[in-house]
Amino acid sequence: MTDSATRLSDLQAEIAKACTIARRKPEEVTLIAVSKTHSAADIAPLIAAGQRVFGENRVQEAQDKWPELREKTPDLELHLVGQLQSNKADEAVALFDCIHSLDRPSLVTALAKAFDKAGRQVPCFVQVNIGAEEQKGGCPIAALPDLLAKAREAGMPLAGLMCVPPYGLESAPYFALMAKLADDHGLAGRSMGMSGDFATAIMLGATHIRVGTALFGERSG
Ligand SMILES: *Cc1c(COP(=O)(O)O)cnc(C)c1O
Repeated sequence: MTDSATRLSDLQAEIAKACTIARRKPEEVTLIAVSKTHSAADIAPLIAAGQRVFGENRVQEAQDKWPELREKTPDLELHLVGQLQSNKADEAVALFDCIHSLDRPSLVTALAKAFDKAGRQVPCFVQVNIGAEEQKGGCPIAALPDLLAKAREAGMPLAGLMCVPPYGLESAPYFALMAKLADDHGLAGRSMGMSGDFATAIMLGATHIRVGTALFGERSG
């Protein structure tokens, strides 16, 4: 087995362990392998090991890497986990199977238009700025009801909520808060948990965990 394939099976074992503790089924948790900054050559062994769901944070980078990988393995699923500019909505809708960064009304408008144009709808997670951090992406908690109402009015397929807790702080309270917000708004999906805190996220109800470093090693760029 190659290095990343070993990391994948180790990670799957840790996911299964967290699920057992939480009395959840491993099938309830989707592992998104976040491959940003890593080359197609780095990604291929994970595909060979059976991983099918991947995440990227830039439209341009994903356009460069994924068409060829997908030609070889048509059942891959690609998720956008980074911020999306409205003027890239068409490209994002053409390329991604799920968007985790819907965070403002203008993006609802842009994506709804892009869905119409493409004749295809892509499930969206609404990203919440769960730690009320000034420079961070995500919808302020206070603005969430209006944003969800606008998205529902536009007929967007809402998958759930997504968050990235403040760096360096204990994640658990932020995950718990996001789970409560998802409950309050009747949303099933919870995209939360990264390499350092995915087990905590699973115990607090994550349905999608986004893991990069634990699979690919440290990013250089
Ligand atoms: C990079 C990234 C991840 C993966 O983070 P790791 O700590 O490398 O597992 C998850 N979510 C988002 C939004 C990211 O940008």
